[in-house]
Order: sequence, then C-alpha cells, then structure tokens
Amino acid sequence: MTQSRLDLFVDRMVSQRACLDHAARAIADLPGPVFELGLGNGRTYHHMRHIMPARDIFVFERAVASHPDSTPPVDMVLLGDVFDTLPAALKRFGATATLIHADLGGHDRVKNDIFARNVSPLVEPLLAVGGLMVSSDRMYFERLVEQPLPDGAVPGRCFIYRRE
Ligand code: SAM
Repeated sequence: MTQSRLDLFVDRMVSQRACLDHAARAIADLPGPVFELGLGNGRTYHHMRHIMPARDIFVFERAVASHPDSTPPVDMVLLGDVFDTLPAALKRFGATATLIHADLGGHDRVKNDIFARNVSPLVEPLLAVGGLMVSSDRMYFERLVEQPLPDGAVPGRCFIYRRE
C-alpha cells in the first residue's frame, strides 16, 4: 500500500529526531560548531538546541520566519541563499563543523534531488574529520561515507554521512 502524505511527514519527523539524537551523541567529544541548513518553522533547530545546549549552532536560511521560541540570535544566522552562504562559511570556518543538518527541501522530490546534487559539493568541505552530516534527502558526496541509521529512523526518509 502506498503511503499518505501524513505517513511520509510522520516518517520524516521521527527520522529527523532519531538521527539528530544519534548524531549529537556521536559527536559529543568533538569540538566545533554545528550547522542547521534550513530553519523553516525552527522545530529541528529547537530540538538541536535542546540536545546540544553548549554548542554554537549556526543557521543558514534565506528568510527567517520561525516560531519565536525557535528563532536564533541574529549573529548566529547566515542569511541568504546557501549557494552564497556555504562558500562564505568555508572561508570563515574552514573544515570545522562537527554536525551539519540539512532540511532544505520542499514537496517536489525531483527538485529536491537536483538541489541535493548541486548543494552537496558545497557542504562536503565544511565537515571536520569525524563529523556527521544528517539530511532528509540523499546527498551526493565524493568522500563522506554513508552510515547505518539508528533505531527509530525510517530508511529513505533520512541519511547520515561521516567524514572519515
Ligand atoms: N527543519 C525545519 C523545521 O523543523 O522547522 C524545516 C525546514 S523547511 C522544510 C526548509 C527551509 O529551507 C525553508 O525555510 C527555506 O526557506 C529554506 N531554504 C530552502 N532553500 C534554501 C536556499 N537555497 N538557501 C537558504 N535557505 C533555503
């Protein structure tokens, strides 16, 4: 039986939480900032703040419109299109990010896949050795290695990659 849009949404939400919880534990001993790509309503950002209270979490978003409880301080936002702000972040931070979470897609799976192919080369160089990348879309990296999903995550609804 095919899944309803509600089924797909629920799978994405539980997968984001399971992958973020797993990734936060895995990078706990690595120093370095965390990046949230796509703020949206701010639900995943709020969760990341909750599970990683001591981390610097920088948010990449072209237009901030989040819930007031989930709005980052202005100096933690890299405002603009990620095709501009990710290259700027590489100059500013180098390969230091311990966790990069991306939820940049919309409702069109084909468009999301094209976007993921185009943005992957801009994300890859930002990750520190041992760092993790969690994405709601399959990414296309040259050197990052896809990881097994934690319990509770739904295959195909989220992806985890590691820089070895
Ligand atoms: N994870 C968020 C949450 O829990 O509320 C939802 C993120 S929402 C699905 C995707 C966000 O990515 C939108 O706010 C959109 O503005 C942003 N976005 C999409 N493409 C972007 C781009 N090229 N540059 C910057 N932000 C982008």
